[in-house]
Amino acid sequence: GQCITHCPTGALTARDDTGNVLAALADPQTITVVQVAPAIRSAWGEGVGLAREQATQGRMVAALRALGFDYVFDTDFGADLTIMEEANEFIEWVKGGKPRPMFTSCCPGWVRFAKLHYPQFAAQLSSSKSPHQMLGATAKALLFEQAAEQGKRIFVVSVMPCVAKKYEAGVPQLSSEAGQDVDAVLTTREFDRMLRMFNVDCAALPEQKFDDPLGTSTGAGTIFGRTGGVMEAALRSAAFFLTGENPDFSTCDTTAATPDKPWVDKTLEIAGMQLRIAIASGLENTSALLDALESGEASYDFVEIMACPGGCVGGGGQPIAFNQELARERAAVLNSLDGADVLRYSHENPDIAALYERLYEHPLSEKAEKLLHTDQLTWDI
Ligand code: SF4
Repeated sequence: GQCITHCPTGALTARDDTGNVLAALADPQTITVVQVAPAIRSAWGEGVGLAREQATQGRMVAALRALGFDYVFDTDFGADLTIMEEANEFIEWVKGGKPRPMFTSCCPGWVRFAKLHYPQFAAQLSSSKSPHQMLGATAKALLFEQAAEQGKRIFVVSVMPCVAKKYEAGVPQLSSEAGQDVDAVLTTREFDRMLRMFNVDCAALPEQKFDDPLGTSTGAGTIFGRTGGVMEAALRSAAFFLTGENPDFSTCDTTAATPDKPWVDKTLEIAGMQLRIAIASGLENTSALLDALESGEASYDFVEIMACPGGCVGGGGQPIAFNQELARERAAVLNSLDGADVLRYSHENPDIAALYERLYEHPLSEKAEKLLHTDQLTWDI
């Protein structure tokens, strides 16, 4: 009982959404949209018996089409959108002299933990919605008219490494006139189970691409899946917005945490400003960092927190053979995808620019505030 009510990531009370997803796929009056989190491409093959080299991103897309989804989008695109909003929010935050640090808020396990155990910091969470919520809200906004004309409903499914995302998707405030931003969340394990249920021969699938226009992403979006990635991606773009030039830095060596100081930090100079940043993953490490902030022993401008050790690659919805080694191996997959990507900065994603032109105008615009931001203080825990 204690654990079940206190588990911050919701891992122990996970609800299975497979039935709802199957019903939506079978309903001709429903337009089904699926999106896949960065961390899935590093792990989905483990549950269907594919070697890491066989379990490619292209085959994962084909596997989702084989299940019958109408649109297959990439949560990495949502991550680029989150970066555009959050990097600008951070700049405004610093210029506006708001209380430091600003905390990342894309991990609902962390948001829930902060609200329950460190409510004094809850007002300092970034208001930017997490990538899959942004992508869900955007997909619904883009498809809304077409669906209404055809008398259809839109059903958005997120495949996530995470059980806390199930709780997040159900937060009533994360919605618009088109309904909840995300209607159902499947974990990597549930996705793999569906593939086995439908007898999809994954090894024989062709390589396919994500659908446009929410399928192009950058390396910055991809590294969201590992600890330190959100911070690094946000600062790559914040530095560009402030100086007009792409920076070439890596924020922190996230393997450098020690039992004495279980988080990593660094001071970076951007546009003449000294910015102190810190990164923690795992809730025990997070508590140590927050206690240090509370006592004044540490102070930072921007802090990234991920509830799961190693970040989402080690999330509670990933194939179960989890240990630290595997989280590192999966993080290495994401780092090599980032390294190999021709686009490594969210602001250089041409589809992101096109989306702002078509829908949001510019980061932090009125429309963006309405669909892409939230106030976590209003959420029920
Ligand atoms: Fe979910 Fe990732 Fe947070 Fe873990 S670190 S609770 S997988 S969002």
